[in-house]
Amino acid sequence: MKKSTATQTKIYCANCVHCKLVPKPAGEGSYMLRVRCSAGKWKKSSGEEKLYKYCTVAQRSIEYCEAYDPMGDVNEFIHDLQATLPAVDEIYQIAKGEHQ
Ligand code: SF4
Repeated sequence: MKKSTATQTKIYCANCVHCKLVPKPAGEGSYMLRVRCSAGKWKKSSGEEKLYKYCTVAQRSIEYCEAYDPMGDVNEFIHDLQATLPAVDEIYQIAKGEHQ
């Protein structure tokens, strides 16, 4: 039987397999990074899916989620993530001529 540890440890969405990184178009040839919950848990009050800025993903924590599926040790993962996350919502350029 699988026991929930939600009462002992905060859940970080960034450490869940359902937390996905997606590009959001930001004008011709550029994009920004967003994260989405592929389990459909992030919704606006209108019912529309809510995406969050990638640079804020380490802050996204909740007390409990029945769909949480951890990818590894949360403390180590969040520590490494915080060290590599961009500080602001950066705009990336799509490299020209890079087709596969
Ligand atoms: S399934 Fe739950 S824990 Fe996982 S990313 Fe979605 S809201 Fe966060």
